[in-house]
Amino acid sequence: MHENIEDLTHLKKLDSSTVLQCLQSRYKQKQFYTWAGPTLVALNPLKDVPDLYSKRMMHLFAHESFTYKTPHIFALGQRTLRHLQWGLGKTHQAIVVNGESGAGKTCNALYLLSFLAAMETNNNEVPNSSNIEVLLCQSNPLLEALGNAQTLKNENSSRFGKLIRLVYLGEGASTQLVSAHIETYLLESTRVARQAAGERNFHIFYQMLAGLSDSLKTELELKDVPIWEIASERDCNAVDEAQFHATVAALEKLSLEDTANQLWKLLAALLHLGNIKFTVTQETWTTNQRHHLESAARLLGLNSNELFQVFTVRNFQAGTKSPAVVRPCSSQNECAARRDTLIKLLYRMMFDTVLESVNEKLQHTNNDQGQGHLFTPKYLCILDLYGFESFQYGNSLEQLCINYANERLQYYFTINYLKEQQVHLANEGLNSIDLDENVLDKHNLISFLDGPVSVFGVLNEECYLNRGCDDSQVCIRIQSSLNERTKGVRSMPPSPRMPRVSRTKAPPVEFAISHYAGLVSYSTVAMLDKNRDQVPGEMMSLLSKSKSPFIKLLLGKDALIFNATHTMNGRRHTVLAKFKNSLDNLMRILNACDVHYVRCIRPSVSEIHYTSSPSQRWDQDYVDAQLKACGVIDTIKVSSFGYPIRMSHEEFATRYQYLSSSRRDRNLDAKEICRRISENYPQMASEVRVGNSQMYATEKGIEMAERWKLQVR
Ligand code: ADP
Ligand code: MG
Repeated sequence: MHENIEDLTHLKKLDSSTVLQCLQSRYKQKQFYTWAGPTLVALNPLKDVPDLYSKRMMHLFAHESFTYKTPHIFALGQRTLRHLQWGLGKTHQAIVVNGESGAGKTCNALYLLSFLAAMETNNNEVPNSSNIEVLLCQSNPLLEALGNAQTLKNENSSRFGKLIRLVYLGEGASTQLVSAHIETYLLESTRVARQAAGERNFHIFYQMLAGLSDSLKTELELKDVPIWEIASERDCNAVDEAQFHATVAALEKLSLEDTANQLWKLLAALLHLGNIKFTVTQETWTTNQRHHLESAARLLGLNSNELFQVFTVRNFQAGTKSPAVVRPCSSQNECAARRDTLIKLLYRMMFDTVLESVNEKLQHTNNDQGQGHLFTPKYLCILDLYGFESFQYGNSLEQLCINYANERLQYYFTINYLKEQQVHLANEGLNSIDLDENVLDKHNLISFLDGPVSVFGVLNEECYLNRGCDDSQVCIRIQSSLNERTKGVRSMPPSPRMPRVSRTKAPPVEFAISHYAGLVSYSTVAMLDKNRDQVPGEMMSLLSKSKSPFIKLLLGKDALIFNATHTMNGRRHTVLAKFKNSLDNLMRILNACDVHYVRCIRPSVSEIHYTSSPSQRWDQDYVDAQLKACGVIDTIKVSSFGYPIRMSHEEFATRYQYLSSSRRDRNLDAKEICRRISENYPQMASEVRVGNSQMYATEKGIEMAERWKLQVR
């Protein structure tokens, strides 16, 4: 019989096989959440579990003290809120949800959000449609429609990272949610123009094709088109129409009805653009899809000839002062690439603009009137970043960014949590532990990726120098500049599955990185172009001539960004440079927070089988790899000795002086008072401990103390 306990740190034997067995037996019993000390491990049920997230459950977790025992995403929400209200630890709180694609990050983040929103509705008695919680819940279907897509791994995969920042004012029980802000990271915009086999474009296209009224379709010239190249109507599925109405409802609730109409227009234009093909006759480019070109131009408020010109003719400019030289594109591919650049640019600008409108709504709510100036705002952040990604072939710049982000988060976790606990507890004479040196060493990898001599370094330098380095030269440079630091990065032999035509060595285009979560082989094919992500100047100036107010709006914002991202030499920041920058910012935010972790685990790679039983959906090796990848095992090792709440003797003594039977004696030092309190309340002994330099407590211990404090007073 396996141990079936709610906190993995209570396992008698702390090794991965015991942990695996415990999780598996819990999974069979439909117990999907388990604590690993303060970290919550969330197993994906791979099917709906109706009662798990009901209103009744929310109520239970909001009011019952068993929250600290029963593992649940609501319990973590409640715990984090308590930290914020009671001012335990740092002022700000963050919950980081991670795991690989399809593991359940977004679902858990959403349940967390709905729980926190429900806590507010309870506070406010009368929910009001402009309340922040209502707006927050409506922003989700909208952002999912625009930023999620069906992939091979997940029918509803988020193709962007997201940080939701909830802003609270007040103290204790009167702490109130007053506004919110959503920040996104690296939308996978390549998907708009092209999708891998078996995957779809962003949901919004199919929703629109399935749900738009006949008259609107006529107006947008969407009828009787046999195929849309970027989003085939044949790929629409049963839920698209229903979700279209949910998206429209969300737009209405957010008072973005005007945006909605502009949105359909823009998306229709993108569909038309995607259908334009290029042929060459008498040395000039033409198209047989003139009607699509005309429709797109009309919807975008552009002149169709000028639009076509931008796709088929390039402007060269040697220096800022010399006149531009004009030259037709040399291939169909080149024209198509320029068309795709426009499609991606418009989609990205649209996504940012809609997000900005949503953020404006989230900032101006009724709640924040009156008390704004009395308290400093406290943040509760929820981070749902894309998980570690590795495909058999073709891992490119996108995967490099995603995996780099995960590497940094993992580093943050390792250093800030594990090391901190290790050192602290040893110093306190409470316990000492030995940690896998490997885990602590892995952080060196980050400088391999983004340091001065690094993968990012080479890719950025080649973009800035622009000296026509080809894919394999880039690869060789990456390999050689990292050669002396062989730990972590090395060249990959050609995969045995790849056809080997001859024994002569092909120039390398692959390098491999040994990430904390596994070895990933990256292809340098087209990586420089992706990193450069250049929008031709003539494309920007064409757009600036648009008569469409929506394009003007999109551009107004992007024009600023566009200018701001030019460096001194007039060169644009690369994708990698911008991404590193946004991660640096994210890390600064996390540094200001107490960070709580949810580790999502997907029990099996296979698709979601609604009929199969939980035991059939459990793949031991796969789960094991995920547990290792996200450091659950190490968390357990450390946390079993850990007390998540620490405060100074002074603070504890002041807070709970009433619990030391004698009135506060001026001659007693704080540590002595703490000792007396813990002697007076032996029930608390295992929950609150007096360390050499400070107090260590579990939340349960603090909860007891808070309760007794009220009774004594
Ligand atoms: P991720 O964001 O990690 O890629 P998602 O949160 O989108 O993964 O989850 C993938 C799928 O798994 C969901 O569409 C849903 O079908 C299922 N799923 C995840 N978490 C839960 C849950 N708590 N309850 C029920 N189904 C879930
Ligand atoms: Mg997701």
